[in-house]
Amino acid sequence: MPLTLSLASKTAVVTGSTSGIGLAIACAMAEAGANVVVNGLGTDDEIKRAVEQISRAKTKVAYNGANMLKPAEIADLINKTEKDFGSVDILVNNAGIQHVAPIEEFPIEKWDQIIAINLSASFHAIRAAVPGMKKRNWGRIINIGSAHSLAASPFKSAYVAAKHGLAGLTKTVALELAEHGTTANCICPGFVLTPLVAKQIPDLAKSNNISEEAAKNQILAKQPTKQFVKAEEIAALAVFLASEPAASITGSMYSIDGGWMAE
Ligand code: NAD
Repeated sequence: MPLTLSLASKTAVVTGSTSGIGLAIACAMAEAGANVVVNGLGTDDEIKRAVEQISRAKTKVAYNGANMLKPAEIADLINKTEKDFGSVDILVNNAGIQHVAPIEEFPIEKWDQIIAINLSASFHAIRAAVPGMKKRNWGRIINIGSAHSLAASPFKSAYVAAKHGLAGLTKTVALELAEHGTTANCICPGFVLTPLVAKQIPDLAKSNNISEEAAKNQILAKQPTKQFVKAEEIAALAVFLASEPAASITGSMYSIDGGWMAE
């Protein structure tokens, strides 16, 4: 029988899915048939709009506002989903923040927040989700890394450290779960024009005394295609990695970066 990309009867938790890449992944998972737990910050209106968008696919959708800085809330996000939905089959660790500054000026609290949200939150969520995945002998863990899981850029010490750490965490978890029907993979996107990157354009323009258009082109210079990656492209890859045909793909780093890592 051919294997399908359908995620019907699966439940996906997508952290940071009120915006950007996470929102695109949550929509694509729901389109593929999964029930989805939406998580992330935002105003009441932003959260409502995200939930409405994901709900268009008519699967079961709920919002959980767990703060990725708080380990107890992360564990509760997983435990509550298991209680309300029956399982966490797919865990997408996507929530992330950025801060750009020279190492000697890097604010200590920003370092701590970036490590907590971009790395430790994934550990806490995986730790809580794995017992259920092992019990059911089925699970998909998808960590949203970055081109910065594989290469560095100046002034992004905390982000690069966290994303490299996430790559290592992915490989370790993949090995531990290899005989439990559960895979762990890391998607490594290049630049995607989400609010996380949009915020960097005026900062770069100001610090280099150039126009915003020139700053945008400077960012895109990293990517041989000279195009931003689309959030929907990352979402399609996430759906594939969550699907049945991807059962033997584990411990992998998936670049989706317009050729950045080829240079
Ligand atoms: P975004 O700013 O659009 O979305 C980030 C999401 O994380 C939002 O839903 C936000 O509410 C959530 N979040 C932030 N802090 C949180 C907290 N304390 N608790 C709960 N949720 C929190 O950014 P994005 O570009 O969509 O980034 C998503 C992921 O993709 C991040 O891990 C980022 O590092 C990664 N990524 C982005 C790019 C890019 O170019 N945009 C490239 C590579 C990797």
